[in-house]
Amino acid sequence: MSRFILSIDQGTTSSRAIVFDENARIVSMAQQEFKQIYPKSGWVEHSPQDIMGSVMAVVAEALVRAEISAEDVAAIGITNQRETTLVWDKETGKPVYNAIVWQCRRTAEYCGELKKTCADAIYEKTGLIPDAYFSATKIKWILDNVAGARERAEQGGLLFGTVDTYLMWQLSKGRIFATDYTNAARTMLFNIHTLKWDEELLALFGIPASMLAEVRPSGWNFGLTDKKVFGSPVPVCGAVGDQQSALFGQLCTEAGDLKNTYGTGCFLLMNTGSRAVKSRNGLVTTLGATCTDRPPYVLEGSVFVGGAVVQWLRDGLKIISAADESETLAQTVEDNGGVYLVPAFTGLGAPYWDAAARGTVSGITRGTTRGHIARAALESIAYQVCDIVQAMEKDSGIKITRLAVDGGASRNNFLLQFQSDVLSREVVRPRCVETTALGAAYLAGLAAGIWKDLNEVRGTLKEGRLFVPDMDVARREKLLGGWKTAVGKTLS
Ligand code: ADP
Repeated sequence: MSRFILSIDQGTTSSRAIVFDENARIVSMAQQEFKQIYPKSGWVEHSPQDIMGSVMAVVAEALVRAEISAEDVAAIGITNQRETTLVWDKETGKPVYNAIVWQCRRTAEYCGELKKTCADAIYEKTGLIPDAYFSATKIKWILDNVAGARERAEQGGLLFGTVDTYLMWQLSKGRIFATDYTNAARTMLFNIHTLKWDEELLALFGIPASMLAEVRPSGWNFGLTDKKVFGSPVPVCGAVGDQQSALFGQLCTEAGDLKNTYGTGCFLLMNTGSRAVKSRNGLVTTLGATCTDRPPYVLEGSVFVGGAVVQWLRDGLKIISAADESETLAQTVEDNGGVYLVPAFTGLGAPYWDAAARGTVSGITRGTTRGHIARAALESIAYQVCDIVQAMEKDSGIKITRLAVDGGASRNNFLLQFQSDVLSREVVRPRCVETTALGAAYLAGLAAGIWKDLNEVRGTLKEGRLFVPDMDVARREKLLGGWKTAVGKTLS
């Protein structure tokens, strides 16, 4: 019996394929970057052919490296960049426009109006704050701007999908037209309480219901890929948005479980179980991954500038030549020397929400060195994460006991120890930091019956590294107070 799981991670800048074995160990991996298209300032697109082409290439390469063929693959799990929007012809499969990427701001002005007129109604239904990130206004833009698109859509000739849906449709040659709860929840068209596409929102955006896919649990037997695609048909048993996939990959399956991904920005997701928590701090409420038709609710917050502040040390200030040097440089000084860096390069997000704020470095003296700046930069990542964790605790009333971490900057041991110290909670970094791909693999493996239940999945886990708080209360409070003061100086 075939026992391998193929995880396809279709991300914003690259596509990756990872083959896992039944012990959830990585057997092989392949990655390919693809082109970012910037037609105008603030606009971001991907070519659908590039998305498909890169996925096909990395799957082929990963199978070759694993020395297996499609017949040996028991299940495919797909995880994807969220919100990115594709519209294609139901008959020919041809996209009517490029994929409009989540980062694209082309509908920002319209979203500004929505915020004034129906922010509450949209939040009540979708858990989201109206923003150009989410798919709804991108679909509307395509229908309004591509010649003939609206008529064809109204005649039932066009389909919409996030990347998961598009991939499944293409890989099955049109036989699978589906998405999962986590992706549907990011469209701003899906009611997260009734778990249905919302007719009022469809009417608001002028989107025909016939364009929308069937919504399923993330771990689900969606159907088979077409025989011709990989040489033999393979069941697709998982589809899940990347952040929720990482949450599942960290096995944050209980209420109160929280993970943070330290990438360019930071993405914090907290499982709140069966309760959809309303945020008073500007966090969004969304759905998490499961193999059942009762997906958990999730509270999500993000930090705009996380690892990117380290890129700035490297490329802007040029005080390091590689990201990992930040760790040694920060440890050339005993403490921050009173220096705080607030990396509000593009404004401040949750819980401050100040778009006009710009970054500051404060507390500089004659004795300040590069080390202090590097230290303040790394510490700023941890403080911002603290701010969101506090907001999540306040909103949910759930006391968080530990933080699971992943992402590029989670390699930095200094950062994680400092995070644990200022958060006063344990921080756990798993042995396998490919949690995004792992989450989709777990879901697919569960749906395909490779693992019977979550306990069996847990049985595959290897000990990671635990960071335990080791800072006295007075010092911690002094540092957090210093951060608050520095943020105060940064607000516009
Ligand atoms: P993304 O998926 O957002 O592209 P990654 O998870 O690949 O991001 O992480 C890349 C980010 O992590 C970069 O911003 C980089 O500066 C930061 N980074 C990578 N290694 C380290 C390190 N050792 N210490 C601190 N930051 C790091």
